[in-house]
Amino acid sequence: MEYDLTDRTVLITGGGRGMGKAAAEKFAQNGADVVVNDIDDEVAESTAAELRDGGADAVGIGADVSDDAEVAAMVETATEELGTIDVLLNNAGVGDAGPFLDDQYDDTFQLNLDVHLHGALNCIREVVDGMVDRGYGKIVNTTSIHTKNAVGMSPAYDVGKFSLLGLTKSLALELGREGIRVNAVAPGWADTRMTDEFSDAVTQQILDNNPLGRFADPEDVANAMVFLASPASDYINGHELRVDGGQVPIDSWRLDD
Ligand code: ADP
Repeated sequence: MEYDLTDRTVLITGGGRGMGKAAAEKFAQNGADVVVNDIDDEVAESTAAELRDGGADAVGIGADVSDDAEVAAMVETATEELGTIDVLLNNAGVGDAGPFLDDQYDDTFQLNLDVHLHGALNCIREVVDGMVDRGYGKIVNTTSIHTKNAVGMSPAYDVGKFSLLGLTKSLALELGREGIRVNAVAPGWADTRMTDEFSDAVTQQILDNNPLGRFADPEDVANAMVFLASPASDYINGHELRVDGGQVPIDSWRLDD
């Protein structure tokens, strides 16, 4: 085991596919009991079933993290099934955003804030008292390459992820005193559904501006998430760990496709 998480219960939001699923697999490999959440019930359950087949204790729970009542019910069920949550990975995300001038889209800003900021807040609110009582907890938030420099043509996503970074840094100061570490992992562009939709021009710019010349594998990102959830990172707090291969910003604001 790289990082021992035996007897720790981990809740992963948006854990049904992509980086969240890779993290769920890594957490299980390192001994954790895993609660796999996703808004898509089917992928939450199928990922949990795969983990159980591999010998882990795991449950899949469908819930929309932006809905506080659904989050409260999810945490109650998760705690009954697998015990108090020791580690929360706020990973649920939406990639739906476009240029501001095309559409001043209040709905898109709202969706990005609902999922990235309020979704994380709803989950933290439900688990934090248990962490404070035990004087132990790890919260890891998935931010983005978008928090290195804003990436033009997607302001709603930029704002959603910058707000999650602000929450990370602020709560790290307050909750650190309670034995809770709050950190973020900022994935570079990874091989997932979101990047599958990029145009050839954007894909080429990303690869040309990446010293490693490739997208991140979901597993590259999962490794950092497990590290920040493990005792190996106990003195790291309020940090955003970039897993982007040294990616240099792209000229997305010049691209019109
Ligand atoms: P990636 O594959 O890059 O990790 P995705 O956007 O494909 O990113 O995955 C994010 C996960 O978050 C998806 O499985 C998606 O279904 C899930 N998700 C999106 N919105 C919510 C939400 N409101 N509540 C819970 N999970 C969500």
